[in-house]
Amino acid sequence: MKKIIAENVNKIEISGIRKFFNKVSQYENVISLTLGQPDFKVPKGVKAAMIKAINEDKTTYTPNAGIKELREEISKYLKTLNINYNSDEVCVTVGGSEGLYAAFAAVINPKDKVLIPSIAYPAYESCVNLLGGTVLNFKLDEQFNIDMENLKRIIREEKPKVLVLSYPSNPTGAVLTEKLRNEIYTLIKENDILVITDEIYSSICFNEKYYSIASYEDIKEKIIFVGGFSKMFSMTGLRIGYVCAYKNILDSIIKVHQYNVSCATSISQYGVLEGLRNCMEDVEYMKCEFKKRRDYVYNSLLNMGLEVIKPEGAFYLFPSIKKFNISSEEFCDRLLKEQGVAIVPGSAFGKGGEGYIRISYCYSGEELEKALDGLEKFIYNM
Ligand code: PMP
Repeated sequence: MKKIIAENVNKIEISGIRKFFNKVSQYENVISLTLGQPDFKVPKGVKAAMIKAINEDKTTYTPNAGIKELREEISKYLKTLNINYNSDEVCVTVGGSEGLYAAFAAVINPKDKVLIPSIAYPAYESCVNLLGGTVLNFKLDEQFNIDMENLKRIIREEKPKVLVLSYPSNPTGAVLTEKLRNEIYTLIKENDILVITDEIYSSICFNEKYYSIASYEDIKEKIIFVGGFSKMFSMTGLRIGYVCAYKNILDSIIKVHQYNVSCATSISQYGVLEGLRNCMEDVEYMKCEFKKRRDYVYNSLLNMGLEVIKPEGAFYLFPSIKKFNISSEEFCDRLLKEQGVAIVPGSAFGKGGEGYIRISYCYSGEELEKALDGLEKFIYNM
């Protein structure tokens, strides 16, 4: 019999984050800090708007690119971050995940080279492999900033078609600095390269100013921006994200999106619409809480003697465990078995992630305290 599964599908695996999450379900009473799923409730206004939409029978297909009012609100929200896309340049998607896939599928031919950070959210690499593209990694330095010399060299020598940027970063929590943004801007301006910038954590940036590569008008035709509301409104299961790009690129992305899903869920779109209009205080509240938790976990890790960079965004910390001389997978397996605490091995985030562990702090204070207690005991006994 012919091989059933497509070669490109055989090339990819279930994400290491999910794998570890599934391992956890084999144990009882485990404290799990594995997922990027905020513990906050969906803002009341978002819930009420969804209930209203159901009662008003707003349950039909919406336009492929999403309801007009929502696209307008997304355009307004982005302006607050200094990013200019009009509503015709926005397509509402089924989470950032579908947005990312549609963006990659719209631009990648088999064997096209795509540059991805050596430590990154696993979906980028899998999307590229699924589409038959070739993944090239560029290095990050010890602070998780881009090693610009390395990036420039790869662009010069390999001439990749796409560069993936991901700020604020999952798993490192790094944000784009003004200096780095300016350097990347020059690089993009001078080279024939397209950028896919995943800014799904844009609402969780602890610095006062938010920097994005999408805020330059003169390179806009080279940028595809991916955003989403899973984290912003703590609504991971309601599945709303979006992609923005120049109209000619977006039209192609919308073609992929149309044949994949037709449109994002109507009810959830109405929820997000209300969220953007009237629930931004809830978003601010969550950000402040995340910042307190970041400080608490960061200080606890330092007190345990772990080497860790203080992240300025998202809700993850990525401490080094290199000094223990065991793989990140073994570290996490043993922590789970010995202390009932689950965190994700850094190796789940690419080659550069080995030697680190990812701690997600979008959990309650009580859970964080118990988990850190277990981690401290584990390290003490090593
Ligand atoms: N990008 C990044 C960096 C993420 O961390 C996630 C979710 N963990 C996504 C995209 C996709 O999120 P969603 O599909 O829920 O919008």
